Amino acid sequence: MTKLGPFWYSIQFQLTMSFLSKGRKAYSILRFRCPFCHEGKLFKNLNPYALRQLYEMPEECEQCGQDFQLEPGFYWGGMYISYVIAAFLLCIVFVLLLFVIGLGFRTSEIITISITFVLWPIIFRVSRSIWINVFIHYEGRSPW
Ligand SMILES: [Zn+2]
Repeated sequence: MTKLGPFWYSIQFQLTMSFLSKGRKAYSILRFRCPFCHEGKLFKNLNPYALRQLYEMPEECEQCGQDFQLEPGFYWGGMYISYVIAAFLLCIVFVLLLFVIGLGFRTSEIITISITFVLWPIIFRVSRSIWINVFIHYEGRSPW
């Protein structure tokens, strides 16, 4: 088992790296990068907890010129995704707190809602990131 250790870790590492490597959707989504070139920033300030700049996105990619505002109101669609993520998260956390950890209903409720509030900026941005990744795919650097 100990002999397999480093080998196993290197496989895990490679899987993680390939999952999050450039060219993968997860890379663009989780690192808030341009879905087309995976280089330009999708948000002006990459820190989601800089709340004053939470909504601020560049008009287009600073690296490849990909338009980030595909049409007026484009990111309304991202709200459906944030709804699904938040609902999924709420259910899992609530069930864990109530049935696995065994807290009371009220306590579980309050903790779950608090966690959702704290994670809201991340959920919001990941949703926008997923939404634009649905429509734009990785092509590497643009030829022009
Ligand atoms: Zn780009």
